[in-house]
Amino acid sequence: MFHLMLSVCLLADPALCAERLLPAPAALSEADCRKTAEARAADWLSAHPELAGGESRCLPTEALPRLAMKEIGGGLWVHEGQTALPDPQNRGAIANLSLAIGTEGIAVIDAGASRAEAEALYAAIRARSDLPIRAVILTHMHPDHTFGADLFREAGAEILGAPKLAAGIEARAEGWMESYPTQIGAGALLGTRPVPPDRGVAEEWLDLGGLRLHLQAVPTAHTDNDLTVFEPVSGTLFTGDLVFNGLLPTLDGSLKGWIGWLSAAHPEVRRIVPGHGPAPLPWPEGAQATRAYLEHLRTTIRAAIAEGLPMSAAIRARDPEDARHWTGYEESHPRNASAAYAELEWE
Ligand SMILES: [Zn+2]
Repeated sequence: MFHLMLSVCLLADPALCAERLLPAPAALSEADCRKTAEARAADWLSAHPELAGGESRCLPTEALPRLAMKEIGGGLWVHEGQTALPDPQNRGAIANLSLAIGTEGIAVIDAGASRAEAEALYAAIRARSDLPIRAVILTHMHPDHTFGADLFREAGAEILGAPKLAAGIEARAEGWMESYPTQIGAGALLGTRPVPPDRGVAEEWLDLGGLRLHLQAVPTAHTDNDLTVFEPVSGTLFTGDLVFNGLLPTLDGSLKGWIGWLSAAHPEVRRIVPGHGPAPLPWPEGAQATRAYLEHLRTTIRAAIAEGLPMSAAIRARDPEDARHWTGYEESHPRNASAAYAELEWE
């Protein structure tokens, strides 16, 4: 299978250049890749007016840089993102990205932080299978999970997410596209375009041939657009950011809703793939640290409110043990505390 690679530079800063992979919905021979290159490059560039196109070439799958994937059994694969906050060095590639490969099709669970990361995930898929990519399932709106989705749509996949995902992405995308380049570097984002899902899903089965996934939207918790993906044969639940492993959980939805989801039994689940950090983890033990942090946050913020402390004082309070345990504590805990204060103040 051959892939069209197109050199592009940012019109606003011509020193910023990269080579982008333009996927095709069907497997291409080298001759077909060359024959269609010019038209496909022009078509793609028309959707990316911020870029100038240059040379193109056709590369075989094995020549593409690709993400390392860990096989976890049952046709499931995980790429473990770095346990870190997004920065120019990791280029935002901090979220876990997963694959489910059936006998008839493939589903991608979370799409990565940029076009570049999605391309490396796509290359990892094509190194294993040339089956059609049926769906890219987004577990929630945050950019480290969603910014790569556009590439999979070009590859023929339907983008699926919770019913409120489209509104979440539409409300935040512009702000993210302003702040994210300074966080991870503008070069890392060349050709990246946040897109809403094609379809909102409240609850649905997806059949990939010998492998079925159950998609389930969740009441407001980490965000207001969380969605879990469950594979029943292995009992694997892809939790998205309902569970963090190593990186401090970030609250962007409802503290009470999140603790509620973590406290529910979910008896069919045997193991989980969290949104961040090494995977898989046993259930429910693997979610215990996330739950303990959130419950502790609730206790301390409730106490601060009961004492009549203002939000600014409640935010400054820090727990040395939590700070030792979690990566990103100093950066994310104050924001979690202020979100928790705003929510619990009106109890
Ligand atoms: Zn998130």
